[in-house]
Amino acid sequence: MSRVYNFSAGPAMLPEEVLKTAAAEMLDYHGSGQSVMEMSHRSSLFQGIIDQAEADIRELMGIPDNYEVLFLQGGASQQFAMIPMNIMKNGKAAYIITGNWARKAYQEAQKYGEAIAAASSEDKNFTYIPDCSDLPIPEDADYVYICQNNTIYGTVYHKLPNTKGHTLVADVSSCFLSEPVNVNDYGIIYGGVQKNVGPAGMVISIIRKDLIPEEPAVANTPTMLRFKTHADAHSLYNTPPCYTIYICGLVFKWLKEMGGLSVMKERNEKKAKLLYDFLDQSKLFHGTVVPADRSLMNVPFVTGDKEMDAKFVKEAADNGLVNLKGHRTVGGMRASIYNAMPYEGVEKLVEFMDDFEKNNR
Ligand SMILES: *Cc1c(COP(=O)(O)O)cnc(C)c1O
Repeated sequence: MSRVYNFSAGPAMLPEEVLKTAAAEMLDYHGSGQSVMEMSHRSSLFQGIIDQAEADIRELMGIPDNYEVLFLQGGASQQFAMIPMNIMKNGKAAYIITGNWARKAYQEAQKYGEAIAAASSEDKNFTYIPDCSDLPIPEDADYVYICQNNTIYGTVYHKLPNTKGHTLVADVSSCFLSEPVNVNDYGIIYGGVQKNVGPAGMVISIIRKDLIPEEPAVANTPTMLRFKTHADAHSLYNTPPCYTIYICGLVFKWLKEMGGLSVMKERNEKKAKLLYDFLDQSKLFHGTVVPADRSLMNVPFVTGDKEMDAKFVKEAADNGLVNLKGHRTVGGMRASIYNAMPYEGVEKLVEFMDDFEKNNR
């Protein structure tokens, strides 16, 4: 068996230790004679799995008791609707448009109220984070919405926006658990798990309890789209994505064993630095993002020549460095280097880029 270094933006690499544990427990979870996939979600065994997963993410992120942790289906995209449907009481919210995912959320919110684009970096193809120190946020806006790490464009907010006292809502799908956060800075902080945490199909939404309304902002919001439904049932209103929750739980355990989120931050900074330093001295490859706003997780780069880009992506794949093709809106390449990507993977990539540059001068 040989495994590749997978630079996919998502679904993405999982820690090998986690996959090995899952394999070892596949047929017989802890002497129960069943796989977690076959287990009743109402069993005490599964209750133990979901309770431990919640306790571990609370510990990792330092989530205060006045926040709910919800394991929900529908991926991150489901939150684009659920958030306005539940909490847009005044029918107004400010969105900062820093890429496709922020724009999708903004467009979805327009179905339920007045979504205002308070700032945008679309003028330069989302290669930077706009100045968010003094945004035109309406007094009665219910929240300010950001996509914290822009998966496609490779930008990140190194400093959160000045919301002028309004609730901050953040999509952290592609930087989830990559570094410590102060949960108190957010009203809602959520992420689809397939980028940095686990298998696809689930979103973890961490919501300050006072934001969860008895009645959603939008009348007739389906039962399954009400935050209260899932908060009251502790994410077990209906059958949850049991196996995904189990794998996420194994990843949380792995993160704790690694030393927690400060250690992950150091590791991620070290990996990103290796790649950015190479890009900054390369004559062939160029990063596409303003250096001050560079993401630690998603690193887009180009040669400026489409055929050369395609040749690079193909030859890299032939060398076990896969899924390096960039998003169609940026072109070129993108290396996603999430928590589970080992330092050696980035080292191999940089060595390969260096060789490629020498051979293609
Ligand atoms: C991938 C991604 C999404 C979409 O996630 P789904 O789970 O496919 O809905 C949303 N936001 C960001 C920042 C992403 O990277």
